[in-house]
Amino acid sequence: MNSHQDIRDAVAKLCTRFPNNYWRALDSKRGYPDAFIKVLNDEGYLSVLIPEEYGGAGLGLEAAGVVLEEIARSGGNPAAFHAQMYTMGTLLKHGSARQKQYYLPKIAAGELRLQAFGVTEPAAGTDTLSIRTSAKRQGDKYLVNGQKVWISRAEHSDLLLLLARTSPQEAVQRKTDGLSVFLVDIRQAVGHGLTIRPIQTMMNHHTTELFFDNLEIAADCLVGEEGKGFRYILDGMNAERILIAYECIGDCKFFIDRATEYARERVVFGRSIGQNQGIQFPLARAYAQMRAAELMTNRAASLFDAGEACAEQANIAKLLASEVAWMAADTCIQTYGGCGMAKEYDIERKFRETRLYQVAPISTNLILSYIGEHVLHLPRSF
Ligand SMILES: Cc1cc2nc3c(=O)[nH]c(=O)nc-3n(C[C@H](O)[C@H](O)[C@H](O)COP(=O)(O)OP(=O)(O)OC[C@H]3O[C@@H](n4cnc5c(N)ncnc54)[C@H](O)[C@@H]3O)c2cc1C
Repeated sequence: MNSHQDIRDAVAKLCTRFPNNYWRALDSKRGYPDAFIKVLNDEGYLSVLIPEEYGGAGLGLEAAGVVLEEIARSGGNPAAFHAQMYTMGTLLKHGSARQKQYYLPKIAAGELRLQAFGVTEPAAGTDTLSIRTSAKRQGDKYLVNGQKVWISRAEHSDLLLLLARTSPQEAVQRKTDGLSVFLVDIRQAVGHGLTIRPIQTMMNHHTTELFFDNLEIAADCLVGEEGKGFRYILDGMNAERILIAYECIGDCKFFIDRATEYARERVVFGRSIGQNQGIQFPLARAYAQMRAAELMTNRAASLFDAGEACAEQANIAKLLASEVAWMAADTCIQTYGGCGMAKEYDIERKFRETRLYQVAPISTNLILSYIGEHVLHLPRSF
């Protein structure tokens, strides 16, 4: 039996209440899955990582991954709410007792959404250490100025975990110092120094630009120690990569399930197209590679949950899973022929959704660069 089979089964059952036409309709009107999130939350699956004392299930990353995988497998789009799982580690590990007491029970109960994570800037994409958005301490407040880009779900989240510069780059000894993490109440900030501007993308992703113009936030919004935020964010990045790998595995299973079903049923030249090895082999290859990616993803999650080093496994899992998801998507479209292009089959929607994961939250080149430098000990390139 697979690990967390009970969670898998329960989430798969829950997803049958939100069939593909639910997600398709949201995609066409760029809607947000409020109804799905409410049910996911009410049944406790969005708060799996929150400790029991704060109203969550107190489970590990593997359980969270299984939830996301099953939603992706059903044809849903976990990108609409996955940030709550990525960002949770930062709050759990580095948040103050007050922050945890105040926010976690409300997040677990679904009263507050922590769905926005603000790192990327127009002049600092992959190069996070070059971010310029600043938070200057003034008495019992910080004054935030700057700009972020690609900050997803800001319009649908109550809280934003923000990375900002609290000391100029020139003033710090180690280049990883001087950045700090803040928990910002978006509802209070909008109109008082925070402006959110949506960005239209090829898939329904609710991503935005954020403009900070003298936004005042209370000093106790600081998470952990001032100047140490980059390390906290790095900590969370392994979790993020592992969870994305689970989503990609779910996408693969969606594409392979759908393509094999179609290939068995669709008859051309008097026989099912699945009888042709030209159709079979790409599906068999996608399946084999998916199983390998799945093993690495489970390995990464179990190391993470055991508190052991897992950067190599997390990076490899994300690399393999995002690449095979894209290959499975392409194979599925090819298997469906013309129908792969029609919206009513949901293949083209999932094809668009899964493409993201070779770009964000970290691009494939940067993962290869991590493996080259930190695993193979090749010379540093940047
Ligand atoms: C839909 C969407 C949602 C997102 N959501 C969020 C979010 O919620 N919060 C957030 O903070 N960010 C978010 N991001 C940002 C995402 O993390 C970045 O897009 C990603 O990190 C890449 O940064 P960039 O787009 O600026 O690309 P760039 O850094 O400009 O890089 C462009 C390309 O050049 C390559 N490249 C750059 N340097 C090197 C090098 N040294 N060697 C080899 N190749 C290199 C990269 O791999 C990439 O392929 C989102 C992005 C998208 C598209």
